[in-house]
Amino acid sequence: MNLIERKVSAGTMKAMEFSSVGTPLAMVERPMPSPRSNEVLLEVLACGVCRTDLHIVDGDIEGTLPIVPGHEVVGRVVSKGEHVTRFELGDRVGVPWLGSSCGRCTYCHKRQENLCDEPVFTGFTVNGGYASHCLADAAFCFSIPASIDDVHAAPLLCAGLIGYRAFSMCGDALRIGLYGFGASAHIIAQLATGLGCTIAAFTRPGDDTGQAFAREMGCAWAGGSDMLSPFELDAAIIFAPAGELVPQALAAVRKGGTVVCAGIHMSDIPTFPYELLWGERQIRSVANLTRADGESFFTAIGTIQVHTRVETFPLHQANEALERLRAGTITGAAVLVP
Ligand SMILES: [Zn+2]
Ligand SMILES: [Zn+2]
Repeated sequence: MNLIERKVSAGTMKAMEFSSVGTPLAMVERPMPSPRSNEVLLEVLACGVCRTDLHIVDGDIEGTLPIVPGHEVVGRVVSKGEHVTRFELGDRVGVPWLGSSCGRCTYCHKRQENLCDEPVFTGFTVNGGYASHCLADAAFCFSIPASIDDVHAAPLLCAGLIGYRAFSMCGDALRIGLYGFGASAHIIAQLATGLGCTIAAFTRPGDDTGQAFAREMGCAWAGGSDMLSPFELDAAIIFAPAGELVPQALAAVRKGGTVVCAGIHMSDIPTFPYELLWGERQIRSVANLTRADGESFFTAIGTIQVHTRVETFPLHQANEALERLRAGTITGAAVLVP
């Protein structure tokens, strides 16, 4: 470690830590961590607030506790381990949900590291970006296009990336329904319309603001999830964690169409008549992301203009940002700025 790195690693960092369900995140101060040989230490510039973070604080999914959430991290490299050659000090990088994979299991060998048997998830099994600083495995970080500033880049790292993986699962579908028009959908709507797709957006019934926002983002039609779009869908992506949307989406897709469930958690799917699945319709989930998804996604948004809509909050207001997300009153994506 050279002198500059030693200076940076000295001192303390701040983080919003989650310790138990029902208790709000609390600001903690702790010694600055030192990167291991494969890691970078980042000064966090911005960190997106994802619905998965709500599932974590609500106990819907269980990881390591206590934990610093945040897996849409944009940071600047302030220190790095001796084996890190991809990035230099001062580089701006993005840290996604998949913090690392084992590299040994069947899935890792089959280029399905998103399904790794021993995965590390940022802000879930290792500390994430609701902090002034965080560590990341350099091999799983992404370079971020210089044209996108920190706060607008943050939502791309999960809402964008996992949304993109879900979009990829729609195959050659041209008419796509998006159920739940939040952070992911507003990115994918722009990307998909840029690629020539026609998008129908489904929001909570009566959410006029959400429907107006969807039309502004290029959707051909927007309405309540209890409605059918005026055109038949080739595929649908469900971003909202509501199981009752599955039969509704199945009813909206054509024969041979696919319904993709994009969230990490969903309420139970109610029983439905077999007729809705008949005609070779498919239901599938999307789990996590691969580095290849990330490379492909950042290449795509290098050619198609995608403007994320963000609302920023200072780091110490992480609880307020989560509550606003829960209430459905964030237009686009919430981003914390340390
Ligand atoms: Zn693995
Ligand atoms: Zn996420």
